[in-house]
This record gives sequence, C-alpha cells and structure tokens, in this order.
Amino acid sequence: MIVELSTGKREVIDITEEVKKAVRKLSEGKSGIAIVFTFHTTTALTVNEAESGLMKDLIDALFSIVPKMNYLHNRIDNNAEAHIIASIVGNSVVLPVSDGELTLGTWQRVLFLELDGPRKRKVYVKFIR
Ligand code: ZN
Repeated sequence: MIVELSTGKREVIDITEEVKKAVRKLSEGKSGIAIVFTFHTTTALTVNEAESGLMKDLIDALFSIVPKMNYLHNRIDNNAEAHIIASIVGNSVVLPVSDGELTLGTWQRVLFLELDGPRKRKVYVKFIR
C-alpha cells in the first residue's frame, strides 16, 4: 500500500497515523511485521519522538554532521548532502504488528525525513505475516 506525501524543503513528517491505517487494512487483524520503505534517494525513515523541537533538531543536526565539501554529485543537482544523510539514516523501518495494530513504545512515532523538497513523495507499507 502506498502512502503519498507533499513535503516542504527540509522537514520531518510524522506518518504514524497513515502507517497505522495501512497496517490495519493489510494485516486483517493478524500479527507479523510491517515494513515501511521510502522510494526516494533524498528521504529517510526513522522511529523517534514527534516533538516539534526535536523534529527540527534532527534535520539541523544531520545537516551539521555531514561536512561541507566540494561534492562531485553537486555538479548534477546540488543535493549530495541530502543523499548522504538519507544513506546514514536509512530508507526503511521494520515494525512489529500485534493483532492488526502497530506495536510502538509510548513516545515512538514513524518519522519521514524530507531532505531535498518540496516534492511529492511515496512511501510503501508492506505487511508480512
Ligand atoms: Zn541528487
């Protein structure tokens, strides 16, 4: 099942409710795992707290740890840092599903990181029993 997103330039989007809805439909009350996968090379997925300050901190910290360099890729579309951060954070998360419901800790949310927007983005949700 595909979840579609409209993103800003650089931002963290809480997609937990969309993933929960998809998992409910796909799992039909069964237990297993959900895989959430982003189709893009300048976006990432992680599980963390959806506190508004932290969501901005994540973006700022990630861009600050990737050094400013004369990246070869920037000859093409000037977004090498976004690609590098996407690779560091990762393009998927695996989540437990119990009786049709995502099983997350109290403060855990599924977070989508847009690193080179604004764009239309697609995230794939797959349920495996
Ligand atoms: Zn690029």
